[in-house]
Amino acid sequence: MSHSAVSQAAAVSVSIGNERSLTRSVFKVIPPFSLSLQLPIFSITFLEICLLDFLIASEFDLKPSFACVVSIFILQQNNSISFNTKPWSSSLALTQKTSTIRDAKRYSNTTICMSVQQASSSKVNVSPIELEDPTDPPLNLYKPKDSYTAKIVSVERVVGPKAPGETCHIVIDHDGNLPYWEGQSYGVIPPGENPKKPGAPHNVRLYSIASTRYGDFFDGKTASLCVRRAVYYDPETGKEDPSKNGVCSNFLCDSKPGDKIQITGPSGKVMLLPENDPNATHIMIATGTGVAPYRGYLRRLFMENVPNYKFGGLAWLFLGVANTDSLLYDDEFSKYLKDHPDNFRFDKALSREEKNKKGGKMYVQDKIEEYSDEIFKLLDNGAHIYFCGLKGMMPGIQDTLKRVAEERGESWDAKLSQLRKNKQWHVEVY
Ligand code: FAD
Repeated sequence: MSHSAVSQAAAVSVSIGNERSLTRSVFKVIPPFSLSLQLPIFSITFLEICLLDFLIASEFDLKPSFACVVSIFILQQNNSISFNTKPWSSSLALTQKTSTIRDAKRYSNTTICMSVQQASSSKVNVSPIELEDPTDPPLNLYKPKDSYTAKIVSVERVVGPKAPGETCHIVIDHDGNLPYWEGQSYGVIPPGENPKKPGAPHNVRLYSIASTRYGDFFDGKTASLCVRRAVYYDPETGKEDPSKNGVCSNFLCDSKPGDKIQITGPSGKVMLLPENDPNATHIMIATGTGVAPYRGYLRRLFMENVPNYKFGGLAWLFLGVANTDSLLYDDEFSKYLKDHPDNFRFDKALSREEKNKKGGKMYVQDKIEEYSDEIFKLLDNGAHIYFCGLKGMMPGIQDTLKRVAEERGESWDAKLSQLRKNKQWHVEVY
């Protein structure tokens, strides 16, 4: 389903096409008689014109051909129309209307949701543009002793049934009070008592922010996290022991729209997207939820219309997960591949489905090795390289890079210290 508070709260939802696609239009029926048209991301298509044509023709008893002209006119204007004294409005307007969870629920009793593959790739306008103004990133605006109380907007499982474990996309409403930049993290303080310090709250857990500074609704009021539920299996019996499951990840994945959540931060500078050169190359390497900051980068590079940052370089994502069902945000990334083939590359390593050239499991370092010549050339030309995900990913990757460097007659240690010195090397593993 879509990453939208409104569709999360929907009681009835019918999807046509790819359910997980973000390239969709959503027609909402708002009781009692108003209709709202969401055109959140991309511009109009033939199918949208037909649907609007049908709705207008039947509601106003007009000839379809006349209604079609009216539809095109409306859609070309500002995606907004008054109807039975209630407005039809774009998703952003609807988001403003439904900025509280209670309102979102009220407006969403009946929803007809249609996924439509859009033909055009026009970018989404974002606001407030003042979020571009500061020269330094926001840092530690809220601390553990003085955390910010935000609200959960939606929690959505984003992996398929055959994925080992569960990963959720969680949208948090901060109402514009906890601004951040792409690549930063939020801290979350789960409710309850710290078992190691009776009477004291739990320690803060950090989560990479998976949205751009404008959030998934493009209005600067939300932040999204990509959280894997930490589950404990007894090594002897192989059975799950819920008493040892991860506290914060389970709290986040189990939370419901409207729940309160204590946030600290934002924190971190190492994964900020360097924007001084809009034509730079960014090589992004992730395992699992390590893809979170890259989702933010890629939305900024390819989905949003940011007046002061027009990307013309290359973004190359390497994502390692267990199997196809574990792929995260695959629809978004595939759309960028289709729309920006000269600026985006995407390589996946599915360890439980694919074999590397030696017949072993395909890990992300095997993909790096496959393209090592190109990667080394790009690094020599100033590319930035990022690593995010589980700590365990780094030794295998470093060994591969070292071996490739030696095969090329280069010293990896010298190369690495040069990359660090040039600020091309960005690592955030946990
Ligand atoms: P905890 O309660 O802290 O437990 C930790 C582990 O110990 C769990 O696996 C748990 O099952 C196990 N455990 C608990 N009790 C016992 C016991 N008695 N015996 C043995 N084992 C036990 N995570 C994400 O999912 N997404 C992100 O984007 C993300 N970004 C991060 C960014 C940074 C910079 C950092 C530092 C970490 C990030 N993390 C991210 C990891 C995250 O901060 C948490 O560490 C993770 O969610 C686990 O926290 P938890 O509270 O669920 O588990």
